[in-house]
Amino acid sequence: MNDSVPTADPTNGAAPIRVRDITKSFGGGPVLAGVSLDVSPGELVALLGPSGCGKTTLLRIIAGLEVPDTGEVMVRDTVLTSASVNVAPERRQVGMVFQDWALFPHLTVAKNVAYGLSREVNRTERVRDALAMVELDGLDDRLPSTLSGGQQQRVALARAIAPQPDVLLLDEPFSNLDTALRVQVRADLHRLLIDLGITTVFVTHDQEEAFILGDRVAVMNAGHVLQAAAPAEIYRHPVDRWVAGFVGEANFLAAVATGTGTSASTSLGPLPLVEPVDAGTSFEVLVRPEDLDLEPGGDAVVELIEFYGHDTVYVVHVDDATTVRVRAGAAPRFGRRDQVALRYTGPAVVAYGTGETANGSIAAAPPGASTAAVTGVHAVEAGLDPGGEAITDR
Ligand code: ATP
Repeated sequence: MNDSVPTADPTNGAAPIRVRDITKSFGGGPVLAGVSLDVSPGELVALLGPSGCGKTTLLRIIAGLEVPDTGEVMVRDTVLTSASVNVAPERRQVGMVFQDWALFPHLTVAKNVAYGLSREVNRTERVRDALAMVELDGLDDRLPSTLSGGQQQRVALARAIAPQPDVLLLDEPFSNLDTALRVQVRADLHRLLIDLGITTVFVTHDQEEAFILGDRVAVMNAGHVLQAAAPAEIYRHPVDRWVAGFVGEANFLAAVATGTGTSASTSLGPLPLVEPVDAGTSFEVLVRPEDLDLEPGGDAVVELIEFYGHDTVYVVHVDDATTVRVRAGAAPRFGRRDQVALRYTGPAVVAYGTGETANGSIAAAPPGASTAAVTGVHAVEAGLDPGGEAITDR
């Protein structure tokens, strides 16, 4: 294996990352099954997916801590991993912040940060600059155990950026923090990463975290990247039913295409479709809870109320096959058992899955798409049921 050293970019610009067709197994089934991903210079990309889907393995392969079975990793114009190349982790110019931060408890803050620095650089200066960047100046001589969780995380980040890496990799950067601290540390890190302008990939299983921090989000499941796009695109146009349910709350309504196929007939009335579907085809449409509103009167009944402070979610029984979640307003306006009417206020909806057309034939579906007939509505919570497939293939 060749162990060539990546050359530093004389312009010191941010570096692109190119990951191609990575496969990896640890003896059992594939943990990564042909993953490709491009990260633009200076971009912040979140790898989002449920536990065990292969996120950390992919991050470790980019860092050189794991060798894939096949595939290629490039940073800038340099191949770091391929069938014939495997650059050692310490020579990749990649900074990594581990899930547990991996600080040496017996070393001071300054010594932790200096740990990975080569002897050729001015270590004192680099440590000072890195600590200033994460706003920990003056804490050089403290031991990690005397710092708060947020401060320890920033030491780990300072250690990762001190060697001035091309790329920063963060594995579940907030998992060690309690909820209250997490929001503050997340905002601080967000600002810091933008200021640094360094190409960053971070792993999370938390959709909110991925959407808040990520310029783009790569949604993974079972060793595949299912969709890589801007958060708003993923939320509004999830590539399949599983992604739709994983990146937020989703109501899936049974629907039939009507007229010219640009509209779907549902239990909530006609809804416009993002893409036309053959008239008569049955499928499901995605309706986000915040795209529904309630008015007094009507035949639907409020079953449950969930008060979140910034908004209220109503679980509404529409008919025997249809129960929906509605996110409407900050203050609760209705009580349990109130009769209400539902109004759709959102944009055109995305259709998933195929079913029988009116004349009994099966509507065309992309490879792997489900042909099961749709029977009702399911409010799918994040992370459940990796079942359905997309009728639209974006
Ligand atoms: P989590 O969010 O729980 O960390 P993940 O998406 O990061 O999950 P990975 O850590 O990449 O998932 O693990 C993917 C799968 O590969 C898991 O089933 C895990 O048990 C397995 N795995 C990872 N590393 C090894 C290893 N060194 N030896 C054997 N199996 C491994």
